[in-house]
Amino acid sequence: RAKSAGGNRYEIADPELDARAITRHGLTTALPAALERGEFFIEYQPLVHMDDGSVHGAEALVRWHHPQHGVLGPDQFIPLAEHTGLIVPLGRWVLQEAVRQAMYWQENHADGGPLRINVNLSPTQLHHPGLVTDTVAVLEGSGLAPGALCLEVTESALIGADEQLLKPLRQLADMGVDIALDDFGTGYSNLANLRRLPVSVLKLDRSFTQGMQHLPVDPVDVKIVEGIVSLAHSLELAVTVEGVETGAQAEQLRELGCDTAQGWYYARPGPPDRLHALSLADAV
Ligand code: C2E
Ligand code: MG
Ligand code: MG
Ligand code: MG
Repeated sequence: RAKSAGGNRYEIADPELDARAITRHGLTTALPAALERGEFFIEYQPLVHMDDGSVHGAEALVRWHHPQHGVLGPDQFIPLAEHTGLIVPLGRWVLQEAVRQAMYWQENHADGGPLRINVNLSPTQLHHPGLVTDTVAVLEGSGLAPGALCLEVTESALIGADEQLLKPLRQLADMGVDIALDDFGTGYSNLANLRRLPVSVLKLDRSFTQGMQHLPVDPVDVKIVEGIVSLAHSLELAVTVEGVETGAQAEQLRELGCDTAQGWYYARPGPPDRLHALSLADAV
């Protein structure tokens, strides 16, 4: 069922081709006007419960509809926006728009069920003093419950983080906002460190699950994921797996106890109305 919901409207340009055709400088200088002109848009990728395949929520993934170069993926411009600081207003726009969309889904969902929204935060946003007030303002402005929002922070952004850096995240977590550790397993962080972080979700990086795409699966990968899931659960963290592309992978990861999953097997990132249709279909 979930498979048929895939299919993209376009292909995101190949980053290597782009590196030649598009200069970093050109893109960087075009960013502020692009935000003003409304050239950014968000695709949503569902997160599903592994036990029954129902939709748990969606991750907001930003794209840039560039007037000359077509649709650019976040890997092509987020680093530039980080570098210039434009990530702060851009990130604020993504949050506002994604939260508005989540509120729309909640109000129009067949059973009024909880549809949650995940939004990525980059390191610069984490360091920005307005993070907590901006987030509170967006939530209050929309009426979305803090518990319906999950902010994703990459593991590498929190390596060596001191209390000063963790404080805004802790404040948000205390309000009920979920904090997810994104791309978990790629940052070589100290596992014992996890206890200190105000996170409630681990998002296991795609690199861990790639070896499970086809049978027979790599037994070492299985052991590693098994270990991470049991550690996470003992710390009362939920585990989301990224990049699930095949049914074999989904089945294996479900058996290993992963809670939620995201990947092309279920659905590719897409326009908001597609996700709305997906969750309505689920409710029936
Ligand atoms: P991420 O947060 O780890 O997001 C998951 C990425 O994996 C997305 O790439 C998604 O399209 C891709 N993906 C999902 N399922 C599959 C699958 O089954 N197979 C494969 N091969 N890939 C899959 P995308 O959209 O290109 O985003 C890349 C990264 O850009 C994101 O990684 C996130 O770190 C960042 N990003 C996206 N939107 C935002 C944003 O609004 N703000 C910030 N700061 N960063 C963002
Ligand atoms: Mg993410
Ligand atoms: Mg991720
Ligand atoms: Mg990732």
